[in-house]
Amino acid sequence: MRHLTILGSTGTIGVNTLDVVVRHPGRFRVAALTGHRNVERMLEQCRLVRPEHAVMLDATSAEQLRSGIRAEGLAIEVGCGVESLEKVASLPEVDTVMAAIVGAAGIRPTFAAAAAGKRVLLANKETMVMAGRIFMDVVRRGRATLLPIDSEHNAIFQSLPQSFRGDLEAVGVRRILLTASGGPFRRLALEALEAVTPGQACAHPNWVMGQKISVDSATMMNKGLEVIEAHWLFDAAPEKIQVVIHPQSIIHSMVEYVDGSVLAQLGNPDMRTPIAHALGFPERIEAGVASLDMFKVARLDFEAPDPGRFPCLGLAYEALAIGGSAPATLNAANEVAVESFLGGRMPFTAIPAMIEHVMGATGHDAVTTLDDVLAADGTARQAAHEWLACLV
Ligand code: NAD
Ligand code: MG
Repeated sequence: MRHLTILGSTGTIGVNTLDVVVRHPGRFRVAALTGHRNVERMLEQCRLVRPEHAVMLDATSAEQLRSGIRAEGLAIEVGCGVESLEKVASLPEVDTVMAAIVGAAGIRPTFAAAAAGKRVLLANKETMVMAGRIFMDVVRRGRATLLPIDSEHNAIFQSLPQSFRGDLEAVGVRRILLTASGGPFRRLALEALEAVTPGQACAHPNWVMGQKISVDSATMMNKGLEVIEAHWLFDAAPEKIQVVIHPQSIIHSMVEYVDGSVLAQLGNPDMRTPIAHALGFPERIEAGVASLDMFKVARLDFEAPDPGRFPCLGLAYEALAIGGSAPATLNAANEVAVESFLGGRMPFTAIPAMIEHVMGATGHDAVTTLDDVLAADGTARQAAHEWLACLV
């Protein structure tokens, strides 16, 4: 029996995780759930899996949850704030933590889970982008196990030999082919990008996801963040990671070997597949995902990403090349840019402009601790807000 904490249970990945978990009542027990402000969904999830702990980041929401839980006569301890998130990420009775909080907010609880030596199922790619080297050190020192949930990284993991221990050359890998859908604006006239709405940006052609990652997919910053994630997860040099646009999202990524073989993982675009893979690993468990209908898919297309259309991808490669605090700066500027676009405060095309400005306006220092990373994150957010204030 595996004992789980699901960080970000009320989000898209969290809901999909619970969908897989409840299919296997004898295999998984949920010890803790966490959310931000969605009390109604959290109460529903508490009724469904009856965890020992539930945490809402927001104090007022935690109070509302507490009275809801009392009214239903459930025995669940309710907490709030980042310290409570860290606590439930490192409970002694928990062996597996799904890290599915969105954005930089996920970094401290994800670190806590790794430091406590848990099996960490990593969806929160921002942790890896902000602090890849430091996080991988904490994983090693904590003797944690890291399993990727991001569909591309999960596909790469599945396409690598089981003997892989962090040295791609030793297992004969020539390069990694990271697939991308190209998002909703792959074919839109460039002049029309200025006027796209948050609704259009969030209408992903293949995947149902949270708003932030949906906008990241539309700018292809998501792929940029994933290049950085792949770099740290698989110790892959940036020039060994090739982004390939594959609009159908059936191949979730590929690994090319020195003998010319290319191994891929295919499936319907449904996050329950990588989630079930990591939850059951090394066993295969039912995920509720339909069989891939090859006759309906019929064809698989590939194209190179256009740097003029997707400047965010180039900015991410640049941040990776600079190193130090640059990826944390990139990530923070991107989070402010996406929030500002979603809030109607700036156009879609201002997203790369804001990030480029912040990358140029802030220094890129060496980072050795989580505090260094959080300081860079704060500086970048401030620079982004200042730029926005001048824009409007
Ligand atoms: P989402 O917005 O649907 O859910 C985010 C979760 O985080 C919610 O439970 C929310 O309550 C919680 N949260 C938000 N702000 C918080 C804060 N400040 N403190 C604590 N908790 C907070 O997002 P999602 O689509 O489920 O994505 C979650 C993570 O997984 C992201 O890092 C994303 O990049 C990654 N990911 C998602 C998908 C996908 O298909 N949705 C695929 C690959 C990777
Ligand atoms: Mg992905």
